[in-house]
Amino acid sequence: MHCRALSLSLLIAFAAHAATLSAEESDEQGEPVELSAAPQTEAPQSDAPQQAQRQESSTPPDSAEKPAIPQAKSIELDKPVSEEELAAPPKSEVPRSEVAGDTGKDTSAAPTAATQANPEAEPQAPEGRPLQLLGAEVPPATATRLPWSPSQHFEGVYSTTPVLVVNGAEPGPTLCLTAAIHGDELNGIESVRRVMYNLDPKSLKGAVIGVPIVNLQGFHRGSRYLTDRRDLNRHFPGDKHGSSASRIARSFFDEVVMHCNAIVDLHTGSFYRTNLPQLRGDLKDPKVVKLTKGFGSTVVLHSEGAKGTLRHAAVKAGIPTVTLEAGAPMVLDELSVSHSVKGIRTLLNQLGMVNKFRLWGDPEPVYYNSTWQRATTGGIIFSKVTLGQTVSKGELLGTVTNPITNVRKEIRSQYNGRILGMAMNQVVQPGFAAYHIGIQAPEEQISPPEEVTAEPASEETAPVAEKSAATKAVAEPETGTPDASAEESKTTVDPDEESEED
Ligand SMILES: [Zn+2]
Repeated sequence: MHCRALSLSLLIAFAAHAATLSAEESDEQGEPVELSAAPQTEAPQSDAPQQAQRQESSTPPDSAEKPAIPQAKSIELDKPVSEEELAAPPKSEVPRSEVAGDTGKDTSAAPTAATQANPEAEPQAPEGRPLQLLGAEVPPATATRLPWSPSQHFEGVYSTTPVLVVNGAEPGPTLCLTAAIHGDELNGIESVRRVMYNLDPKSLKGAVIGVPIVNLQGFHRGSRYLTDRRDLNRHFPGDKHGSSASRIARSFFDEVVMHCNAIVDLHTGSFYRTNLPQLRGDLKDPKVVKLTKGFGSTVVLHSEGAKGTLRHAAVKAGIPTVTLEAGAPMVLDELSVSHSVKGIRTLLNQLGMVNKFRLWGDPEPVYYNSTWQRATTGGIIFSKVTLGQTVSKGELLGTVTNPITNVRKEIRSQYNGRILGMAMNQVVQPGFAAYHIGIQAPEEQISPPEEVTAEPASEETAPVAEKSAATKAVAEPETGTPDASAEESKTTVDPDEESEED
């Protein structure tokens, strides 16, 4: 497909969104949640030395050996960049090249002066520290874009993935925002960009690292997966001697994730399902619970997270992490994006990192239990319920009609609960997980959500290493269109590969 065209048009869309973004938030005032500035401090797990390092996030392990880390060029993140500029890592000495395109609002002089060249009298607040990341040093009160590239190269070429960094003028935690680990999940990309583009490094406390598109390979092809058909979000923390996916995961984990004090990983539903904006986190971990409380009016669903997910691996490494789910794959929807942006801004406020955003609303219910209602027959599914709707036991959720025989089956709720996620109208196979119902229950009744095991598009189980990437791109639908292979994949799929994690 025309990947470049796709990404360019998306970039344009992003720029337009950013330009029209209003800082207005709801005027509801939430109860501030006290979250420690460095939520990871008391979590010595497998990566104890790394943990210690992260408390001093400004001095990564290698700082002693490599004192001469180049300083990152300070830029305005929302300024369009040329492809050449993206390709060349911005280091401070590099003169700023001409900016391609002109949005009308960036005709002013390039704001590239590093802070130290900026002696204007700011009030004497405690000074933030330089942040070392991806081989560069980001001075306090500056923003920059750094290139992350897994050490693995495919045919000698690998597009670098932009990592946006805003390092605040004052000290504070490092919050990381990651999106599009599944390359077809677009809402998170837009959400991260909106948040990052509107942060002011001069007033920020701590740092925000935003990676709008972790899986650039998948994004370019409109696919959830990497080019080798593997799900990157089942390979964390990764292994530098492992599979391609595992190496990419390891690189990202070491180069970016380990610099974070807390992480919000943005996702959408998978395979033509859409999710009510919701947080997922392991609510048995008090640090994760604290993090979930910062998001304002957002539903929270308890889930430990499948092994291999970024969330699972990061929490295991002592970094509180939540998944923020909103909307459906391959769709940019304003409601999901604005909810996510609002939630993250509320979090920034609750963490004490920004002051300018107002807090948002009362907390939504926490669901400690959830279950999937499945299609019992194949056919065309039409829903009678909508996302977020409260349903009672026995209520009609939707129908599945066989378009050949005209036989219609009903799907009725087996629980009292709320629709947290649901299939969009489509053709489904028997067993397709159609409605994700959140069940409010006392905390002591925590049980993991039922695993989704019968997905279409589980080509995952048989990575086709021999096929060329080009052949695959043409020959195989990648977005999970139900097809004849669904039945057979049901029996071969590894339950760990297909879980509730979207
Ligand atoms: Zn996802």
